[in-house]
Amino acid sequence: MKEIILLKDGELALKGLNRRTFEDILMKNIRQRLRHAVGEFKFTRSQSTCVIAPVDENIDFDKAVDIIQHCFGVVGISRAAQCEKDIDVIKNTALEYLRDELSFARTFKVEAKRSDKKFPYNSPQICNEVGGFLLSHLHHLKVDVHNPDVKVTVEVRDNHAFIHGNQLKGAGGMPTGTGGKACVLISGGIDSPVAAWMMAKRGLQLTAVHFASPPYTSERAEMKVHELLKKVARYSGRIDLYTVHFTEIQEAIRDNSPEDMFTITMRRIMMKIATRIAESKDCGALITGESVGQVASQTMWALRCTDAAAGLPVFRPCIGMDKNEIIEISRKIDTFDISIEPFEDCCTVFTPKHPRTKPTPQMAEEAENAAWDDELVNKAIETAKHMAIH
Ligand code: ATP
Ligand code: MG
Repeated sequence: MKEIILLKDGELALKGLNRRTFEDILMKNIRQRLRHAVGEFKFTRSQSTCVIAPVDENIDFDKAVDIIQHCFGVVGISRAAQCEKDIDVIKNTALEYLRDELSFARTFKVEAKRSDKKFPYNSPQICNEVGGFLLSHLHHLKVDVHNPDVKVTVEVRDNHAFIHGNQLKGAGGMPTGTGGKACVLISGGIDSPVAAWMMAKRGLQLTAVHFASPPYTSERAEMKVHELLKKVARYSGRIDLYTVHFTEIQEAIRDNSPEDMFTITMRRIMMKIATRIAESKDCGALITGESVGQVASQTMWALRCTDAAAGLPVFRPCIGMDKNEIIEISRKIDTFDISIEPFEDCCTVFTPKHPRTKPTPQMAEEAENAAWDDELVNKAIETAKHMAIH
């Protein structure tokens, strides 16, 4: 039996005038991701539905469904059987294809859509035929037209009939890329992967910058970041990661700036480096996982100093969230278990015992000037390691 995926207009989170462009971008995203992970698919549009059919029937169809469900911009999808337009074939296909789903249901109803008006049964007749056939084979079922556990849909179209059960939920959000590009500062922690996911959900295509400080931080810490980004990329698609070696800069800060200003200075320099990388990659904003009051470097006063160093708007989607709320999302997107693996982040290297919680912009600038070294910064940017994460 041939399986296909139906994406209906109502299942795409698309907006008014931009609708056509958004749809094109979404289809391109889906096609690319399927091609990269599963294989080639054929996309056909007809009557407000996009039919996505595998070119090679031996592909991993479950994986394809999973990939499409996770694409931002997809609100829901229908996984359907495609069969010949013959009422007996339709009945048998419905029984065979939906047997498992219906065996867990108590109630069902059949809905029919007939766009091929030459088909000898009209919609109510199709419902009767298929409904009666399913009832005669699955004795535990009852019909409930108002609130069925499973809605069986039969669509008779120009070339084929499609049969599907309940719609599967999609990730929602806006298609990746419809909002431009932004650059996330990604650590191995809980917050920044959540922040990345939240902004990608709004249609931003992600570039990522990670600061590593070997030998204080390990290769495992970098691999953890790759694993985290892979989880985000399930939703956002490809992410270009730049890993910046930050050790010498951190040592310069330790040696030249006041101890209580260490973290603020480090965060300002991170912002400056990230801005340079972001701009060279056409990103229009930076993204961080900061949340007011979470740690000393995230007080309102500290954030003002960090913000002043960034050359682009800084999006902080976690800014007003409690840790529990951030954790809830990290569990949902499956990053939590990776985030809590115990590997040092460069932020925990040389942290002062008594960080200043109310720095002023002037203090921050002075501390930064004392540590700033053009050559070190340029070298860090030039030697950043690039890697594409899928
Ligand atoms: P997270 O859980 O995201 O690590 P956090 O609460 O631990 O956040 P900090 O360590 O102070 O907070 O970092 C604040 C933000 O700075 C992070 O959310 C992230 O955006 C950025 N950041 C921290 N460490 C790094 C790093 N090593 N590389 C890139 N960005 C970082
Ligand atoms: Mg952190």
